[in-house]
Amino acid sequence: KPVIIIVVGMAGSGKTTFMNRLVCHTQASNIRGYVMNLDPAVLTLPFGANIDIRDTVKYKEVMKQFNLGPNGGILTSLNLFATKFDEVISVIEKRADQLDYVLVDTPGQIEIFTWSASGAIITEAFASTFPTVVTYVVDTPRSASPQTFMSNMLYACSILYKTRLPLVVAFNKTDVAQHQFALEWMEDFEVFHAALESDHSYSSTLTRSLSLALEEFYKNLRSVGVSAVSGAGMDAFFKAIEASAEEYMDTYKADLDKRR
Ligand code: GDP
Ligand code: MG
Repeated sequence: KPVIIIVVGMAGSGKTTFMNRLVCHTQASNIRGYVMNLDPAVLTLPFGANIDIRDTVKYKEVMKQFNLGPNGGILTSLNLFATKFDEVISVIEKRADQLDYVLVDTPGQIEIFTWSASGAIITEAFASTFPTVVTYVVDTPRSASPQTFMSNMLYACSILYKTRLPLVVAFNKTDVAQHQFALEWMEDFEVFHAALESDHSYSSTLTRSLSLALEEFYKNLRSVGVSAVSGAGMDAFFKAIEASAEEYMDTYKADLDKRR
């Protein structure tokens, strides 16, 4: 069975560029990938998609027809697509023997996927049929301050809670800024606290406490540094995906079956 990789992250973190990198990497390494675009508003895709939401729902038309703004248009398009998702699942099931991975790109604005009913329906449809891993893409250069780093990690944590699926954090854009600082901050809260220096503002004090609360989360988290542009980190990324797929089998699958 193929492993589903759902790529989420803040707008501009590099999801689509990273998807393109994954597609190039799989093609060059004889890994059999199936590619899906769930962003109805993307103008041009750098990669060829096997399934593209834009072939089924025209987001501009949806905006006009339901008198919606851009975000409402994207959300409604995703809702419309989610109602037919069983067809998507059966298409993948038919090809299951010939696939190693299914790569899934999601809309630019993260909450449209992670905090919507249709995002949950799509994620659950995948996860109840195939080993599924969520990849949270982080804009590393923009997470270099302790407080933006913390908000990013809190978001990652909330995705873990919401989906209950194995999570891989991909620190992207390492061609611009290395992710070493992030690893050190997660490894040792004293290093993180030192980065906050002598700032005793409320938000800084809160950030300090939160870093203690996140220790358990960090301990079990798989994270890799990647560059969607240079291609650095691909082998480490796929190793993390493999380990996460095993975790899915050991933990999540059993949990899912129990809940059903
Ligand atoms: P998305 O909204 O998450 O899909 O982000 P995009 O893939 O559209 O990328 C947003 C911007 O970040 C674009 O200008 C990309 O060229 C840039 N970008 C993405 N990945 C990288 C990377 O690894 N390194 C650098 N330097 N820029 C990147
Ligand atoms: Mg995108």
